[in-house]
Amino acid sequence: MAMSSTDVVVIRGGQVVSTSGATAADVIVEGERIAAVVAPGSAASTAAAEGARVVDADGCYVVPGGVDVHVHLQLPMSPEATSSDTFATGTTAAAWGGTTTVIDFAGQMKGMHVRDAVEQRLAEAEGQCAIDYGLHLSMGGVDEAALKEMGTLVDEGITSFKFFMAYPGVYYSDDGQLLQAFQRCADLGSMAMIHAENGIAIDVLRDQAASRGDTGSVWHGRTRPSRLEGEAVHRAAALAEVAGAPLYIVHLSSSDALEQVTWARQRGLNVFAETCPQYLYLSIDEHLDQPGLDGLRHICSPPLRPSTTHDTLWQGLRRDELAVVSTDHCPFCDTEKLLGTDDFRVAPNGLG
Ligand SMILES: [Zn+2]
Repeated sequence: MAMSSTDVVVIRGGQVVSTSGATAADVIVEGERIAAVVAPGSAASTAAAEGARVVDADGCYVVPGGVDVHVHLQLPMSPEATSSDTFATGTTAAAWGGTTTVIDFAGQMKGMHVRDAVEQRLAEAEGQCAIDYGLHLSMGGVDEAALKEMGTLVDEGITSFKFFMAYPGVYYSDDGQLLQAFQRCADLGSMAMIHAENGIAIDVLRDQAASRGDTGSVWHGRTRPSRLEGEAVHRAAALAEVAGAPLYIVHLSSSDALEQVTWARQRGLNVFAETCPQYLYLSIDEHLDQPGLDGLRHICSPPLRPSTTHDTLWQGLRRDELAVVSTDHCPFCDTEKLLGTDDFRVAPNGLG
């Protein structure tokens, strides 16, 4: 079917950025697809502009739409705290920043049907999003029914499944459950994602800190040592190797964890990882270790690390051991952050 000229947009005069650099070019968009990138002011550009919407990009860079593969819009963390960006506000903000696709999560917890979790999340997003969106499935209750349902989801387009080594009693999977889930991912050709922190050990440290009266926000970080992130990455990589599944480490925050990704990749495993801006720019000493609201505002999981980690993570990006930068966008307002005033354990910390 011929495209009517009203469906055509021509972006003229800009510097078009691609993997090979920036060059002066005009971009012809038909419908929702880039039809051609042509020489600026060329005959093809002039012909396409006839009756089309023309965007003057003179003096501007023209960049591909960003894809943020890890966001949590309107995520209820507790009865008192739901992440503050809705599907409408979050995706509108994303569009303003040049991000044209986000991937959120449907969350299945123990005792919940996977299907219900997905239907609920799709209903929340329906008609609300300003940009393209997709869903991963967070699976907190790995059982026979959930493992079976994964096959249906893959057919429907949900092809990545996130599991948790943290948050016992909420999303946590033990090693046996992880192995079964990874085996299922291998069978389906789908991707296993992992929140790699040893939650069983972390819970002990958190409770010990609280019973000593160490309840300030910095203890959120001190009770989640990077060694327990590295240990979890190593263990997850071993389980994925046994299952023959690819493994994607979400929100990698520390040198310890990166070392284990490097180890796995050198071993030839299909293990790759993302990091997030907070781990590249913020630190436990400068940001989390502050009194009151200032500290509480910097609670996230995994926690901020020492600033010496920044260089290591940037090097990881250069070497492709870190393959992706996502945001793990999961914002809360001060009212919710202040819930953690007397005990960091109560602050919404982003389930990760
Ligand atoms: Zn997350």
